[in-house]
Amino acid sequence: MTATRTGGCLCGRVRYESQGEVLFSLLCHCRDCQYQSGSAFIAAIRVPAAGFRITKGEPKLYLSGSDAGNAVTRAFCPECGSPLFIRVSARPDIVGLRVGSLDDPSGFRPEADIFVKSAQPWDHMNPDLPKHRTYPPGRAYSPPT
Ligand SMILES: [Zn+2]
Ligand SMILES: [Zn+2]
Repeated sequence: MTATRTGGCLCGRVRYESQGEVLFSLLCHCRDCQYQSGSAFIAAIRVPAAGFRITKGEPKLYLSGSDAGNAVTRAFCPECGSPLFIRVSARPDIVGLRVGSLDDPSGFRPEADIFVKSAQPWDHMNPDLPKHRTYPPGRAYSPPT
């Protein structure tokens, strides 16, 4: 993916811009992501918070807790409901962007499947990708993005 990316919601009310290298590309199969996607998983990229800004509109925020006890903020468009990004209290330096909200999601290359313990039986995953029951090793801080 390029170092600069733009995205927004379905109706165009909320827009964002993100700069900096992608830190981690993942597919999260946790139950929360199933609810928020309305499907089996969410595709997300973790990017530096320092390079992230909202350029149009104001997303609605939904706060919940993670398994690890962190406060999780999920941002979505108040008009069309598109999930946009996630922030976790333990890592204010990182933003997790929903890949589907990018203007060009085609460059996404997932590195791993996470929270596969919660995956649905009909959720068929790429067998070539590493699978993690919950968080990937060494990324215990990681949000359930
Ligand atoms: Zn919208
Ligand atoms: Zn998740």
